[in-house]
Amino acid sequence: MNFIDFMERFKTEQDCQDHFFKIRWPNGFKCPKCGHEEYFFLKGRHHYECCHCGHQTSLTAGTVMHGSHTGLREWFLVIYLFTHDKRGISATQIARTVGISYFTAWLMLHKLRKAMGDRDAKYYLDGIIEMDDAFFGAPDEGGKRGRGTNKTPAIIELSLNEEGQPEHLKIQVVDTVDGATIIEVAKETLKPGATIQTDGLSSYNEPPIPTPANSPSP
Ligand SMILES: [Zn+2]
Repeated sequence: MNFIDFMERFKTEQDCQDHFFKIRWPNGFKCPKCGHEEYFFLKGRHHYECCHCGHQTSLTAGTVMHGSHTGLREWFLVIYLFTHDKRGISATQIARTVGISYFTAWLMLHKLRKAMGDRDAKYYLDGIIEMDDAFFGAPDEGGKRGRGTNKTPAIIELSLNEEGQPEHLKIQVVDTVDGATIIEVAKETLKPGATIQTDGLSSYNEPPIPTPANSPSP
């Protein structure tokens, strides 16, 4: 959805609530406590009260937006900007664009990043996984690259679909790139039975070969 379509689609707070209601309860309201389908809408509090058991819930209960004083429209807009800027939008830019305070923007970004991280952590890669290591940070004096520098090492895992096209990517920062660490990362991030493809780096072979992290490039 481009920005014009987005602004057209979510013109008012009500548009956002209607949309979110359909996502939350695609087959109509259902009480999270007893499963009853009839409710009263408590307008002032934006709560839905179950006609059967009296349980009250809100649209945003259990989401990052829960308990926030910021409107859904602002949330939607921040999520739009956050997910459409590949370089990573700053809280200052968000505050200016959406018309909210810097602190509010910062808090919203923080919650969104946390939610995405939590979701990512629960996701296990499956199928064919390309595994490699990478080193981040400025090169050492003398311009040495990759292994053999003081850069931060990370393990990269990319899952491929049946056509060999990339599907999901995980990057995990590690202390050292050795056999034991790689196996540990694989256990935490891959579904059992996944096939690992590597460039033949000795650290990836089992049993773990105690390759020192700072050994020179092959
Ligand atoms: Zn109920």
